Amino acid sequence: MERCPTCRATLNDKIVICRRCGTDLSLALAAKKKGVQMESLAVRLLVTGDTQKALDAANQALTFNQTDRAVLIKKFISCLTKYY
Ligand SMILES: [Zn+2]
Repeated sequence: MERCPTCRATLNDKIVICRRCGTDLSLALAAKKKGVQMESLAVRLLVTGDTQKALDAANQALTFNQTDRAVLIKKFISCLTKYY
């Protein structure tokens, strides 16, 4: 997390409480971590050929953390599923 979602203060990944406004960032950091885990799961499922579960995992990744990587994974899987 680069910026506090409340006050936009610059953060580093080890800060759990914003030093400027006191916002507890633990849930946001947990969601970010879960999103990264779901992105990895989507890629692993894609490699095994389970495109539907891979797409589900990519969608879950996006619900936890809207990253460019998660969007690309979802678009890639969506393109593949059009041909099955
Ligand atoms: Zn803040």
